[in-house]
Amino acid sequence: MAALSLADLYNARRNLQGKVVRTPLVHSPHLSAIVQAPVYLKLESHQTTGSFKLRGATNAVAHLNAEEMQRGVVAASTGNHGRAIAYAAQERGMRAVICMSRLVPANKVDAIRALGAEVCINGNSQDDAQEEAQRLVRQDGLVMLPPFDHPHVIAGQGTIGLEIFEQLPDVNTVLVPLSGGGLFAGIALALKSANPTITTLGVTMENGCAMHTSLKAGHPVYVEEVETLADSLGGGIGLDNRYTFPMARDLSDNTLLVSEEWIARAVHHAYWEEREIVEGAGAVGIAALLAGLIKISSTPGPIVLVVSGRNIDMALHHALISHRTFPT
Ligand SMILES: *Cc1c(COP(=O)(O)O)cnc(C)c1O
Repeated sequence: MAALSLADLYNARRNLQGKVVRTPLVHSPHLSAIVQAPVYLKLESHQTTGSFKLRGATNAVAHLNAEEMQRGVVAASTGNHGRAIAYAAQERGMRAVICMSRLVPANKVDAIRALGAEVCINGNSQDDAQEEAQRLVRQDGLVMLPPFDHPHVIAGQGTIGLEIFEQLPDVNTVLVPLSGGGLFAGIALALKSANPTITTLGVTMENGCAMHTSLKAGHPVYVEEVETLADSLGGGIGLDNRYTFPMARDLSDNTLLVSEEWIARAVHHAYWEEREIVEGAGAVGIAALLAGLIKISSTPGPIVLVVSGRNIDMALHHALISHRTFPT
């Protein structure tokens, strides 16, 4: 593996300057009371395009040369990466094609079209979308910008870790939503480089968690993609994974799994207690806390939950926040 270093993250930070939001880190009195330790939310849900994916996308686009920009870019996506690429491409006046499966919610597809990108819907899994993207590289000569397994993408996401350390230097534990692992790898690299005693935990859903299953197996494995409230966490890690699998293996202290029920409760909690609109994938850290997966005795210091996005279908959100009240 061509290892990434802290220098790559600071280089990414320069490329992101003025193009992405330095998102707030806010204290949550309610969650702090539950675990009896200070809990903070890193609100990437407030990022432009509604998720952190703009960081990796912006850094990847910044590295394109003039000839590549002329050719245009293609990406396979569960929605948020595509939206970020579409945004970054529009900024540069570049052609962008976004390949998605039928599992991607309509609100995400619509937002990508609204940014002027071409959309192709193909198959029932992220792997199918990936195949279509590869076909377009061969056919149209487009440049592939992968959603997670790419050094520039990982470095872009890692700038979140730099910010967390600056905003809360005595951070003890960080919970990061985990799918392909670009977000986790970047943040964990930043934090473990700054202070190796910081605990970095990946959080993912019980249904179809490819990285968790791969870490257990010791190598990338195929996991069937199923529907989940955390739709942005769907998809495999790639059997030919080069970067995020070894980084997640080496930099994660543990992986936590949350049920659909707890994800629903977390979206509900985010709205009523934190006054934040959060999509399922963005709420898994809150879900882990609410489900009691963080043991208070083992975690005395400040805990940071990375809230990764807010691009939830608003009808679904409405149902989650109004149809049930959860005793807490
Ligand atoms: C993509 C995404 C994730 C997971 O990021 P990976 O780098 O694939 O692990 C988490 N939350 C949201 C909102 C996302 O869009």
